[in-house]
Amino acid sequence: MASDSEAPPLSAKVVGSFAYLTIKDRLPTIITKVIDTIHRNKNKFFEEYGEDGIEAEKKAISLLSKLRNEVQTDKPILELTDGLRDLDAWNQYLQRHESLQGDKGSVSWFKSPWLYVECYMYRRIQEAIWLNPPINEFDVFNEGKTQSFFESQQATAALCTYLETAKKDKDGLSKNQLFDHFIKLLQVSLWGNKCDLSISAGQENSQKDSPLEVLANLKPFILVDDSDKVWAALMSCKSSGGTVRRVDIVLDNAGFEVVTDMVLADFLVSFGLVSEIHFHGKSFPWFVSDVTAKDFEWTIRQTMAANHKWMSKSGVQWKKYLKEGVWSYHDHPFWTQPHEFCDMLVDAPDLYTKLQGADLLLFKGDLNYRKLTGDRDWDFTIRFETALRGFEPSPICSLRTLKANVQVGLQPGQGEKLGSEEPNWMTSSKYAVIQFYDPYLEQ
Ligand SMILES: [Mg+2]
Repeated sequence: MASDSEAPPLSAKVVGSFAYLTIKDRLPTIITKVIDTIHRNKNKFFEEYGEDGIEAEKKAISLLSKLRNEVQTDKPILELTDGLRDLDAWNQYLQRHESLQGDKGSVSWFKSPWLYVECYMYRRIQEAIWLNPPINEFDVFNEGKTQSFFESQQATAALCTYLETAKKDKDGLSKNQLFDHFIKLLQVSLWGNKCDLSISAGQENSQKDSPLEVLANLKPFILVDDSDKVWAALMSCKSSGGTVRRVDIVLDNAGFEVVTDMVLADFLVSFGLVSEIHFHGKSFPWFVSDVTAKDFEWTIRQTMAANHKWMSKSGVQWKKYLKEGVWSYHDHPFWTQPHEFCDMLVDAPDLYTKLQGADLLLFKGDLNYRKLTGDRDWDFTIRFETALRGFEPSPICSLRTLKANVQVGLQPGQGEKLGSEEPNWMTSSKYAVIQFYDPYLEQ
């Protein structure tokens, strides 16, 4: 492990590492499931598009089989060919890695940074779909995302009941009671991140227990808990007054997790802590369960339509917030590119400028954490802000359950102790962090 700014990127080069097992086993499994999904929808494509649908299904499957073979045999990373708006960025990124590689062979699945090739796989899955109209709008991950939502409905109902009940008493609340609600809903949003279909390679992964009742038991598994600092940041923007106080939530997964994010966002607005929420999602299906614009709207519609008083009340409120512009949904091609976030200022300056307008940025989940920290082999005790390497558009909070071999900001010996007790502590999603950095405060 390295503690300097040149900590090497995690890679499948290290045989037996989580990155290695991901490329070797988990990614081919995900591609196989995508192929199965497309195949299972063959009749639907025929009904909708006739022979053209069947032809497109065959061609997409053939591209995906080729992709799976490229992964399994460590073939070079290829340029994209679908002519979409992010194509140049991807191909330039490949050239950048080719020149870094020099004469040490090609940029390939097992030799190059894990973050890069894993992102690239999802972009290639999308290419296989996009190149094949009329099925080019098909979301290959949709079934899993909707299933995860429906299977978590009891948990969602419990959460909405908590929120709507709390709203009834909101006027007489003391600051401590307000803080207590905040901590609970922040932690629910944190643990909502356990429900991730990419890590289970598409296996069902929903929330069955009441999310509020399990919080106390889960508390010991939060390895870094900066929630007091996040609260202080919210309070300081509240007391500055006059200006629009905006929180941005950079989303991770659809299903139960995005519901927990919406409940937190509803709480922040309806209790007067902030006046605007910007949600950032993905512009195409990504990492199996990530939120797209369609998923976002679908989730709100389903919550509104639920046969549960408080759930539908919450859904109606969310729809209203969107209509009034109190909430807004944004996507940007950068979120579905392989770059570390420290590249954002140069590679997506428009997005960086947008994020500077927020008073607080909440980054959900593991992939955002990997990109925040560059997915590098950092020493566990290196400071969070060091790993951010200059990415500091606004105060940043990462809410993440651990699903990859990168973790910074721990106490001396903490990571080593966990490693000796539980070899898979970094990837089991049993542990979590609430990590905060405010570039405007003296540390
Ligand atoms: Mg995800």
